[in-house]
Amino acid sequence: MSLQGGKIPTLEEFRTLLRKHDLKVTGQRLAVHEAMINLGHASADMVVEEIRRQGPVKVTVASVYNILSQLADFRIYGRRLSANSKMYFDVNIGKHLHLYDRENHRYRDIMDDELMELVQAHLRRHKFKGFTVEDIDIQYIARPSRRGRTS
Ligand SMILES: [Zn+2]
Repeated sequence: MSLQGGKIPTLEEFRTLLRKHDLKVTGQRLAVHEAMINLGHASADMVVEEIRRQGPVKVTVASVYNILSQLADFRIYGRRLSANSKMYFDVNIGKHLHLYDRENHRYRDIMDDELMELVQAHLRRHKFKGFTVEDIDIQYIARPSRRGRTS
């Protein structure tokens, strides 16, 4: 089990993904992706804050939210609704699990191929009548321990 890895598209790969979906490569979309690379998992508000911190590109929360939603519709980003009812977007498109910090409302990616394989093997033996499982979403809900607390 590790906390690194997964698949985060570089800016160049992101351009290719946009073109593949017939989306224009715009300054705003690139700024959103750059912010997402830095943030990993973020709400529209957090992305706007990050873009404004970086400088020149002008954005509004509404336009950033629209860009994020559209990218999620094309499955370029993932979507996660947090326990404090905020929509978070996920830049990591690889298979991964999440550790959700319910005090700070932050997600951390967890790579655990062993668990993923166990679940997939389990699903091959246990089917749900009338349904096809398309995706697996595993999230650990945690709070920072008193000892070893970061930040
Ligand atoms: Zn993630």
